[in-house]
Amino acid sequence: MTRKHPHFLLTNDDGIEAEGIHCLAGLLRRFGRVTLLAPDRERSGVSHAFSLNRPLALKHHGEDVYSLTGTPADCVMFGIRSFLVEENAPDYVFSGINHGANLGTDVVYSGTVAGAREGALFRIPSVAVSLATEFSSRFDSQHLHFESVIQFVDSFLPMLFERSLPEGTFLNINVPNIPPDLLKGGQFTRVGKRIYRDRFICKVDEHGNELFWLGGEPPTHTPEEGTDFDALENSMASITPLRWIPADHGELSHFKDWPSLESPNGKKGSDMFFRKGDLADPRERMIQDQLLARGISDPHVLQAFRTLRREDFVPEDMKPHAYEDRPLPIGCDQTISQPYMTALMTQALDLQSDHVVLEIGTGSGFQTALLRLLSKEVLTVDRFPELSRKAERVLNSLGFNNILFRVCDGSLGFEEECPFDRILVTAAAPAIPTPLIEQLATPGILILPMGDRENQMLKRVTRTSAGISFEDLCPCVFVPLVGKGGFDEGSK
Ligand code: SAH
Repeated sequence: MTRKHPHFLLTNDDGIEAEGIHCLAGLLRRFGRVTLLAPDRERSGVSHAFSLNRPLALKHHGEDVYSLTGTPADCVMFGIRSFLVEENAPDYVFSGINHGANLGTDVVYSGTVAGAREGALFRIPSVAVSLATEFSSRFDSQHLHFESVIQFVDSFLPMLFERSLPEGTFLNINVPNIPPDLLKGGQFTRVGKRIYRDRFICKVDEHGNELFWLGGEPPTHTPEEGTDFDALENSMASITPLRWIPADHGELSHFKDWPSLESPNGKKGSDMFFRKGDLADPRERMIQDQLLARGISDPHVLQAFRTLRREDFVPEDMKPHAYEDRPLPIGCDQTISQPYMTALMTQALDLQSDHVVLEIGTGSGFQTALLRLLSKEVLTVDRFPELSRKAERVLNSLGFNNILFRVCDGSLGFEEECPFDRILVTAAAPAIPTPLIEQLATPGILILPMGDRENQMLKRVTRTSAGISFEDLCPCVFVPLVGKGGFDEGSK
C-alpha cells in the first residue's frame, strides 16, 4: 500500500531523552524519513490527555527531531496538523519503544498507546511498541533488550507496508525483555485481563498535610490463552489490534429491551430519566434492590437479568411472585433459586463468550438461560424429565440455541463431553465430586454449594496451569444433589 520512502511520525510517553525512542528512530530511518516529536519529559500514564487551554513550547533538537511541552497525543496531533509536516503528511505513526509493558488493561492508561490511537484517529496506520520489562521474573531485570524489539519490528514492518489495517484499528506491540536468540517470534492476540494491586500510601509532610502515593505490589494477570499475556509467557511478542473508539456496536443489540428514553407526557429534564419510571417495573426493582445493592456489579450479568423475564420460568401460580427475594417452588419438590444467589454464581463464574459450560440442575431453566447468554454453549442436566422438558420448551420458545438438555444423574459430571470451561452445580453436595474437577478445562472454574442437607457454603474451585485453588464465597441453602456424587435419595 505504501510509497517507496514512507514518512514516519514517531512519539513516546517516556520523553525525548528516553533510549527506546532513539532505538526505534534508528530502525525506521532505514526505511524512510522519521520526524521524531516527543514530550519534553516523562508522561507515563497520561493516557489520551491533550492540552486544551495551555500553550505548547516546541524545541528543535536536530534535523527532524523536536520536543513539545505536551502529552503523546499532543505530539501526534501537532505533528500532523502543524507546519512541521505540512508538505509531507506522515504515512505511519509510531509510539515507543516504551520502557515497560503495555498489556491488558494497561492500554486504557498508557500514554504510549494513546500516541498510536491519536494517529489512528487521523486514519493513519499506527503502532505502539513496548518492551515488557517487569512482566515476568524470567525476564532480564539487569538489561533492556531494545535489540530484541528492533529485530522483531524490523521483521514485522514489511508486512505492515504490504497490507492494510482494518478501518478504525491500530496495533499494540509488546516484546518480552529477553535476548533476541530467546525470542520465539510474534503472535496476534486479544487484550488480556490485568489485575492491579495498587494501594495509596500515605505520608505526612512538614506542614502536617497528608500526601498519597500510588504504590502497592506489581500487577498480575488472569492466565488466558490467546491473550497478549499468554504470548509473552511463551517468549513471543504480542501484536494486539485495538480500536480507536473503545466500543463494539454489536453491544447495541443488548439494549433493545431497555425502556424507552423518550420523554413521557412531553416532560423535560430529569423527569424524563428512565430509571425513575422504571422502578415501577418489578424486574428493574429486583435488579436495583437485590442485585446492585448487594454488590452484583458485572454489567454483563446485570444485562442478562434485564433481558430475561423471570415469570417465563415459574409455574402459573408463582408468576405474581417472580421477582421476590426468595426461591420459588417449580414442581417435583424443587425450587428456582433466589435471584441474588443466581446472580452471584453467574458473576463468580466469570463467563466469556467462547466458553462451554456444564450446568448440573436445570430446574426451571432460568440459570441455564443466564449461562447461555454469557457463553457459547451450555450442557444442562437434571434428574427429573418433567423439569428438563419444561425448561427445554421455555428456552426453545424464547429462541435459545446451543443448549443441550440431558436427563440423568449428573452428579459425577459428563465425561463424554468434557472438558468444560465452567461447571455450575445448582444443588447441594456433601463434598466436591472429584470427577467434576477432572472435567474442568485449564483454566476453568467450578461452583458448587457444599455442606449438609440444611446448610451449605458456596465453593469456588479455580483450576489454572499453576494448580487448583478453593474459595468460600458465601453461606447458602440449596436443595440436595441426589445421586452418586451427592446425597442418597432421602427427604427431598
Ligand atoms: N438452577 C435451577 C435450580 C434448580 S434446583 C433454578 O434456579 O431453577 C436444583 C436442581 O438440581 C433440581 O431441578 C434437581 O432436580 C436437580 N438435581 C438434583 N440432583 C441432581 C443430579 N444428581 N443430577 C441432575 N440434576 C440434579
